[in-house]
Amino acid sequence: MFPSVLVANRGEIARRVMRTARRLGLRTIAVYSDADRDAWHVADADEAVHIGGSAAKDSYLRIDAIIEAARQTGAAAIHPGYGFLSEKAEFADACAAAGIAFIGPPASAIRAMGLKDAAKDIVGKAGVPVVPGYQGDDQSTERLQAEAGRTGYPVLIKAVAGGGGKGMRRVDAEAEFVKALEGAKREAMAAFGDDRVLIEKYVTRPRHIEIQVFADAHGNAVHLFERDCSLQRRHQKVIEEAPAPGMPEAMRAAMGDAAVKAALAIGYRGAGTIEFIVDSSEGLRPDGFFFMEMNTRLQVEHPVTEAITGLDLVELQLRIAAGEALPPQSAITLCGHAVEARLYAEDPAKNFLPSIGTLRRLHLPAAGDGVRIDAGVREGDAVTMFYDPMIAKVVAHGTTRDEARQKLARVMEEVEVAGVRTNAAFVAKCLRHPGFASGDIDTGFIDRHMKELAPKPGAASGETLALAAVATLLESAGKADAASPWAVEDGFRLGGAGFDLVEFVSGDETIGVRVTRPAGGWRVEVGGAAFDGALRLNGNRLTGSLGGRSVHAWVERAGNTVTLIRDGETRVLALFDPFDVDDTAADTGSTVLSPMPGKIVQVLAEPGQQVKRGAALAVLEAMKMEHTLTAPADRKIAEVPVSVGDQVTEGSVIIRFAEA
Ligand code: ADP
Ligand code: ADP
Ligand code: MG
Repeated sequence: MFPSVLVANRGEIARRVMRTARRLGLRTIAVYSDADRDAWHVADADEAVHIGGSAAKDSYLRIDAIIEAARQTGAAAIHPGYGFLSEKAEFADACAAAGIAFIGPPASAIRAMGLKDAAKDIVGKAGVPVVPGYQGDDQSTERLQAEAGRTGYPVLIKAVAGGGGKGMRRVDAEAEFVKALEGAKREAMAAFGDDRVLIEKYVTRPRHIEIQVFADAHGNAVHLFERDCSLQRRHQKVIEEAPAPGMPEAMRAAMGDAAVKAALAIGYRGAGTIEFIVDSSEGLRPDGFFFMEMNTRLQVEHPVTEAITGLDLVELQLRIAAGEALPPQSAITLCGHAVEARLYAEDPAKNFLPSIGTLRRLHLPAAGDGVRIDAGVREGDAVTMFYDPMIAKVVAHGTTRDEARQKLARVMEEVEVAGVRTNAAFVAKCLRHPGFASGDIDTGFIDRHMKELAPKPGAASGETLALAAVATLLESAGKADAASPWAVEDGFRLGGAGFDLVEFVSGDETIGVRVTRPAGGWRVEVGGAAFDGALRLNGNRLTGSLGGRSVHAWVERAGNTVTLIRDGETRVLALFDPFDVDDTAADTGSTVLSPMPGKIVQVLAEPGQQVKRGAALAVLEAMKMEHTLTAPADRKIAEVPVSVGDQVTEGSVIIRFAEA
């Protein structure tokens, strides 16, 4: 085994790789950018080397700086993690040239699978079924459109250099093709510096089922069963599980064989994943799967495979790179069921827009009892615009799917995050949805059920306002001296008013919450509804019950805002303040503000135009993705202060509406 390993990555995956390396006795070396000086992965490592600026291209994507860091520290091996340089053949070449072991496949295998079109050709020749479509050199709009017609709508346009769901557009009808092609090409160019695309038949009722493979240097290749990653948003995985619900043994065997065949066809070594798209319109059948792409690295969702096989995939990677042989296929067994959720800093109510900021509060439930949590950040750390907004992966393992599913839902409901928006409550709702519970899933699940799954935008519920009002009063009482009437439990009010009014602002509206304390309990009236309960505040913890539901919430008051976290959901409420005249920062509906720093790539509105609610007004490119900014209501445009190519900061005015 190697004496040391440098991990050319950050966040949870850097920490996860180092954990195994340390267990095997290796010295661990981290690298970090300016933004990551105080990051958790740096604290975890035995040694750490600064490699450059915050933007990935100035640090985690710099082959020269990373090789130099490995030289300086005498690293025997480099593990690339996922993302960044993990699928860059030149990086594997550079490691070889420097005499450092690359924990990954040979550069030739990365090259063979790097472009989706070439990969499909190779595995197709090896006898693996591929998705029908067009993958050719003629990239003219006319040709691509003709091929899409020949393939038959709906089709999917994919960037040949694609990854992470970027540069991909589903097209349902010919009339939408040209516009979708432009968007896919623009996004592909921005993310990969290559705007070539391929056309694929859009498979009906698609399920994403992938096979984990391993190959060693002795000509052996095995598979570690399947993972179902059908729960996606923006073609990106949100919930993954192993095994796939309803998988017949014959299909599992056929997919395993095909995956091993594909790995052997390219002289693979190490860990890899063969991704298939499955047509589930007639259930799961041994002839209903098609190759999509191969990821020549460790996958984000590898922990579910670890949970059901009891194997440590990073350990296998290290052993294979050190020349050891794989166990035989017959020694790899499947036990129980595991489900993973990706906890993202993003806003499900705003089309999963990444949310950046400092994690003022980050509480993840304890691991153990079949729960595993791989986190990359701690309370106080920042989620920046520079990197992927994933906060943690949460994995639950159980004897049955139902057990794992419910365990994971509970954990997600206990997650408490303030400072950024998260998908915790959204994921919990997915897990508890009857359709998901019965295993009736496909990649359209989230879009189809979005209404039930997404938090309601706009005003908070009466229950939330009631809790926030009580917490606000309890908090003020805690701050005041002991003579405060709220500090005593008898409900007596100074001045004899007998009730308190807490007012919140939502948009242009002020919502009054009336609070009384009959018989030592609480009675809260808001918007015509009344809630009775018993509540206590201890530090930031609000407990007790309200309206017959038990309460275990986290609250914080800072100035005029009250943050309330309950069931994985965070609400930030504004207290009405008659002296607060500064409303310039608030999005009052008279403007559309940039939700994050980025670049304007399209302007779709002009002054004087009358737009309908939901109309696309401009397209912002941020965090390598395109975000469409839409009209919040039927409005008339007064001014468009930006133009294509402008760099904007968070909160910049993109559109100004005329007075309604
Ligand atoms: P998986 O199938 O394992 O989810 P993805 O292709 O989605 O793989 O990418 C893995 C992760 O790495 C994703 O979270 C993605 O956002 C991130 N990632 C991919 N490419 C880069 C990159 N160049 N820089 C930073 N992160 C990246
Ligand atoms: P990436 O490199 O971005 O991961 P993939 O080719 O793996 O791109 O596709 C990402 C996702 O897009 C898949 O998981 C699946 O949900 C969807 N998808 C891809 N190809 C098809 C297809 N031909 N039909 C239906 N859905 C597809
Ligand atoms: Mg993929």
